[in-house]
Amino acid sequence: MNIAKGASTNTLIMKFGGTSVGSVEVMLQVASIVQDARKKWKYVAVVTSAMAGVTNSLLKLVNTAIDGNREQVKNAIQELRERHLAVLDAISLPDTRKQQTIQEIETILLELQETCKAISILSEASPRSCDVVASTGERLAVRVLSAVLESTQIKTCFIDSSRIIVTDDTFQNALPDFVATKARADEIIQPLFAENYTPVITGFIGGTPDGVITTLGRGGSDYSAAILSSVLNANEVWIWTDVDGVMSADPRLVKDAVTIPELTFREVAELAYYGAKVLHPKTIRPIIESNIGLRVCNTFNPQHPGTRLLETRDIRKGTIKAVTAIPNLDLMSIEGRGMLGVPGVAARTFSAVAETGTSVPMITQSSSEQTITFAVPQESSATVMAALEKTFAREIRHRDIDGILKIDSVAIVTTVGAGMAQTAGISGMVFSALGNAKVNVMAIAQGSSEVSISFVVAEKDLKSALVAIHALILDD
Ligand code: ADP
Ligand code: ASP
Ligand code: MG
Repeated sequence: MNIAKGASTNTLIMKFGGTSVGSVEVMLQVASIVQDARKKWKYVAVVTSAMAGVTNSLLKLVNTAIDGNREQVKNAIQELRERHLAVLDAISLPDTRKQQTIQEIETILLELQETCKAISILSEASPRSCDVVASTGERLAVRVLSAVLESTQIKTCFIDSSRIIVTDDTFQNALPDFVATKARADEIIQPLFAENYTPVITGFIGGTPDGVITTLGRGGSDYSAAILSSVLNANEVWIWTDVDGVMSADPRLVKDAVTIPELTFREVAELAYYGAKVLHPKTIRPIIESNIGLRVCNTFNPQHPGTRLLETRDIRKGTIKAVTAIPNLDLMSIEGRGMLGVPGVAARTFSAVAETGTSVPMITQSSSEQTITFAVPQESSATVMAALEKTFAREIRHRDIDGILKIDSVAIVTTVGAGMAQTAGISGMVFSALGNAKVNVMAIAQGSSEVSISFVVAEKDLKSALVAIHALILDD
């Protein structure tokens, strides 16, 4: 199907997160949301995550298998079986349909058991086998959720997206090939739309061109929904989660956080990048590029309008809208008076870091070029330190570089709002609020983007920093 960009295809993609499919009760709520959407939209597809907590259990299972603890592997698989079969038990479907789904579940669990056995024998798990195990959660969820939808008379079927989302073989963080994916979606999903099906598609999972299962990274079901929306020329994608949309702060950390009714794509991209778990950071790009409408809403409170994403021009400038954080980081600095004369320090620093496979969420450099400071995830900081000491061994020996310094346990806090960084007085307000809360700011990256200011604080000060800045949002 060839459709002009922006034309209405009357297509809606709805993605449901783990808590939204955590039990039969919520799945029935999902069914009623789908029924409502079917009244207004010609074509609807559902993308689902694994049931809440299942992906974590599966990744734990990999370690249990590596340790060779067979009894524990068996118990974990039995728990998965019981949890999914309990949903089927609670719905009314013809017996043959139920048996068919139970059979599907047993086949997947048998495969899981075999994979765990192979991992146990080798006492190690490759990223490829980790993906086979991790994908089990979504593969089970689509079967169970589509049975629930069917029990409420929705015409549905399930699809394993390893057949549709074509990726490279970067296991655990695979990159999609949009052209190949579009061809598969046209071939597999469009005919189902034409027959009025509401397919239930696995989030999180892709497949290499020859069908080996990959995953898109933790929290990747949002990204799956964005990829599918793009290749299906959807008009809108709605992300259904467990809070009333994108909020002014993580409601788990700041209890008086409020819903932000409207955000620009740039604002939400910054929020997602700087730690707001509510949307996977890769979700935004395909949506902007394909001109798709995005909404974030609450499965447990579907009447609430949630958050709408808007084009930049519609937005009131100059206010802080949200504050977010990335915890569990270390701060590294390369310092030395001799650095001024050493060519390419920044380039060498970040290529050494990149070779360790670590991504750096924030960088600052002092104007005199005597210090480069950046944050790295705690679990990678020893590897990064070793790589830098090797790269700059000569300069350290000659004392051009004093050494690589590390401050443990910091967090990046980011304030987000269009035009905020250009509005006089806002950073002053932010930093005096932090001062009043006795929070010491260790590094600042201001003006790196039009819509955010980021700074580093000690992890122990994170909560106070979030609360102090959030008070400014509420006062506005
Ligand atoms: P799902 O399983 O539906 O994908 P996630 O747990 O991945 O849900 O994301 C939703 C969670 O994101 C919320 O429960 C909330 O704790 C967290 N969160 C962090 N920052 C924000 C924010 N700014 N707005 C809303 N939720 C946030
Ligand atoms: N189930 C996967 C995870 O927990 C993907 C997702 O929920 O988005 O990471
Ligand atoms: Mg999520």
